[in-house]
Order: sequence, then structure tokens, then C-alpha cells
Amino acid sequence: MSEKLKHKAQQQPATNNVVAMPSQCGCEGCKKKADQMNFCAEHFDWFKFGLITKEGKRPTDFDKKFSAYTKHQKVA
Ligand SMILES: [Zn+2]
Repeated sequence: MSEKLKHKAQQQPATNNVVAMPSQCGCEGCKKKADQMNFCAEHFDWFKFGLITKEGKRPTDFDKKFSAYTKHQKVA
């Protein structure tokens, strides 16, 4: 029984720019404290729904998505 040992060290470049994030909601104009993923609870919900990007920016079809979101909230 012979096994070939695969010894290949995978080197990954350290391109991950770790920036010290403020513990404040990342959504533009929101002054609440960040709860999850740099968003407050409300805006994390927005993020999950695609209303804002992880940078806290609104997509071009924000209005459409927002009305769908509010409908979703009312149903739920
Ligand atoms: Zn917020």
C-alpha cells in the first residue's frame, strides 16, 4: 500500500484589507449602532432583502425593492 504524499502549500496573497469598522450602522445616514454585519437590526434586514449593498448603498431600483419590502413586512 503506497500513497503519494501531496505536499503543495497553497499560498494565498494577503489582499484582504482589514479595515477597522466603526461599530455604527453602515447604511448612509443611519446613526444607530451596528448589530450585525455593520448594520443595525433594521438595515441588516434591508441588506438581507437587497435594499442596500454591504457598503450601505442603495441600488438603482431601491424604490421598487423598498415597496416590495414594506409589503413583505405587512404580510409577515
Ligand atoms: Zn441602520
